Amino acid sequence: MISTLRHQLVSGETTPEAILKKLAGDISARDGQTGAYLSHDLESALNEAANADLSLPLGGIPIAIKDNINVLGQPCTAGSKFLSENYESPYDATVIQKLRAAGAIPFGRTNLDEFAMGSATENSALKLTRNPHDPERIPGGSSGGSAAAVADLTAIAALGSDTGGSIRQPASHCGVVGLKPSYGRVSRFGLIAFASSLDQIGPLTHSVEDAALILQAIAGYDERDSTSLDVPVPDYLTGLNDGVKGLKLGLPKEYFGDGIDPGVRQKVEKAVQALADQGAELVEISLPHTQYAVATYYVIAPAEASSNLSRFDGIRYGHRTASPTDILDLYKKSREEGFGPEVKRRIILGTYVLSSGYYDAYYSQAQKVRTLIRRDFENAFEKVDAILSPVAPSPARKIGALGDDPLQDYLADIFTIAANLAGIPAISVPVGTVDSDGGKNLPVGLQILGPHLGEAKLLQIAKAAEAL
Ligand code: GLN
Repeated sequence: MISTLRHQLVSGETTPEAILKKLAGDISARDGQTGAYLSHDLESALNEAANADLSLPLGGIPIAIKDNINVLGQPCTAGSKFLSENYESPYDATVIQKLRAAGAIPFGRTNLDEFAMGSATENSALKLTRNPHDPERIPGGSSGGSAAAVADLTAIAALGSDTGGSIRQPASHCGVVGLKPSYGRVSRFGLIAFASSLDQIGPLTHSVEDAALILQAIAGYDERDSTSLDVPVPDYLTGLNDGVKGLKLGLPKEYFGDGIDPGVRQKVEKAVQALADQGAELVEISLPHTQYAVATYYVIAPAEASSNLSRFDGIRYGHRTASPTDILDLYKKSREEGFGPEVKRRIILGTYVLSSGYYDAYYSQAQKVRTLIRRDFENAFEKVDAILSPVAPSPARKIGALGDDPLQDYLADIFTIAANLAGIPAISVPVGTVDSDGGKNLPVGLQILGPHLGEAKLLQIAKAAEAL
């Protein structure tokens, strides 16, 4: 998609302004139903487009941005009431600076679960987002707005963030490509932090090639993020078409057990077989600590969130309660009024597992299990080049199906969260659709996981899977 548009831009067949106006028209026409966008500012994007340098790799290409990534002068709500009233970003996140340096134009802010906590975008305090394939269903989450916008063709491509699956799972549910880079590959500076040891920014796109183009633009060391890695960024496009012949692809038995929807299993197994037909060697492997991944994640992520979210106190930015009696009352009421129920649940959980007396039993224990999960992958990557699995056990569920019980959604994160705990890259590629009971076609994604900093090979395998 991007390279076609780039050719048209360079040849003068179209202009950045025309692309933006077309997108804005499509947003007006369709986004009332889909609800992918929280805001968009056509006028300032057109001003940027007037100066677009079409010789750059993403010259003149608009990119939608998840509303937890700071873009200078724009709102950045994180899907929360806390930041939706009066916050405007005072600076560009590093990924935005890098996109601009590559010629891209950030355009439109996409909906998300509040502070990226969720798997359905239903935890957004601001808006409901629907799956473009079936408006009765969730788009997935937390980057549900980014995935829905790409699937609805109201975005050329989008950025999301992934702490436990938030790029890959909505990509799978909406039938688009979603890449979570290795921890440290992309700067987190300017991303509103959820769980700092797990968060990564990455692309949601129409194609694997588009994902490679965007990763190329946003990857690299940043002195403002001490966890970003000072290692050279390879060329992600060179080997993209090299195929899977001779590669060893691991199938973890723990990822193909009970509880997977039969339609999802069939599509994923068919894609796996097709990769084997193209010359890949399939190897059965084991990731023995998989069963502890959900519990480990739901200790570590809330622990880090409870610390990260302490900055929202009603003093420096965001919501402040109207008439507090004293400073403590100001903190309490501002937080009580500003945060939604899932965010409060995570803060309470996180504070609990970090409290003295429970720290060793929960938080330290979870860190030890995290190490075991990381070692599972290190051992596996001694035998195989990449690992294949489903992204989610089921296709997109109906909106509202869970009521007030988040546990089913937590459990459905089983295939995505281990990659974050281990810091390794993973991509979701659409591999077909299954029929819903309502007669709609619901997309299914194949997940490909690779060793740390192994994005190039991951994209190469994804490209082969996409071609099927
Ligand atoms: N679904 C997971 C959660 O609710 C992951 C969210 C994410 O990756 N931001 O925490």
